[in-house]
Amino acid sequence: MTLFDLSGRTAIVTGANTGIGRAIAAGLAGAGADIVGVGRSAMTGTEADVAAAGRRFTAIHADLSRAESAGKVMAEAAAAGAVADILVNNAGIIRRADALDFTEEDWDAVLDTNLKSVFFLCQAFARAAITAGRPAKIINIASLLSFQGGIRVPSYTAAKSGLAGLTKLLANEWAARGINVNAIAPGYVETNNTTALRADAERNADILKRIPAGRWARPDDMVGAAIFLAAPAADYVHGTILPVDGGWLAR
Ligand code: NAP
Repeated sequence: MTLFDLSGRTAIVTGANTGIGRAIAAGLAGAGADIVGVGRSAMTGTEADVAAAGRRFTAIHADLSRAESAGKVMAEAAAAGAVADILVNNAGIIRRADALDFTEEDWDAVLDTNLKSVFFLCQAFARAAITAGRPAKIINIASLLSFQGGIRVPSYTAAKSGLAGLTKLLANEWAARGINVNAIAPGYVETNNTTALRADAERNADILKRIPAGRWARPDDMVGAAIFLAAPAADYVHGTILPVDGGWLAR
């Protein structure tokens, strides 16, 4: 096995139908992994990407705004013959409004999907990995707002900052159990999540001005970091939040 080879491994990727999740699923398949895509929408495009890489794709339909989905996801993955090797917690939502006007519904929706469900899926996955006695990798998709405050996204900032802390806690508890827990913090990526920002000419210009790389990220820009954190190359990497941001945090 080479440092970046994922042959014989299975990766569970949440929110795999679009954006960063689809790119990571296709990228991990390109490195040799079979893919279990988890989401609430059809994942036909991702299935085609994975098949083009010659790997197996299994779709699991689940609403990750509900923490109890975690058990169902791991049970269906096991029933499909998938082992708990790699988990990418990518599914996420964002709600934008001034903090003065922010509603409880927008708070709960984001915290439930972006943090609560992630914890319980990590827990269910880790139990399966420990029971199987196989080394495993968890990659959480964090954010620049795991480091910074942001603006008009209070529940998203709270969830992604919480996710950074959770990543470190789980790394501390599970490193000695053979599970690496790390996160990727994407910069500004051209996906559905950022449509509103890109549509606002002033915000778009402000953002672009600050990115040393001089452009928004594309979902594919996240693939190298995902392969690294999923692969034997990262066997001694625990609890890190790896920015892939075109240099944004260096400014
Ligand atoms: P996206 O294109 O909106 O993808 C989000 C994914 O999450 C979709 O597959 C979506 O499914 C899924 N999802 C949302 N709620 C779900 C639920 N209740 N149950 C199951 N699946 C659900 O956005 P993206 O930018 O690729 O986001 C992926 C991750 O990257 C998120 O965690 C996001 O916070 C993070 N991120 C994005 C950026 C950025 O600039 N784009 C930056 C930093 C971090 P549907 O298609 O069915 O809605």
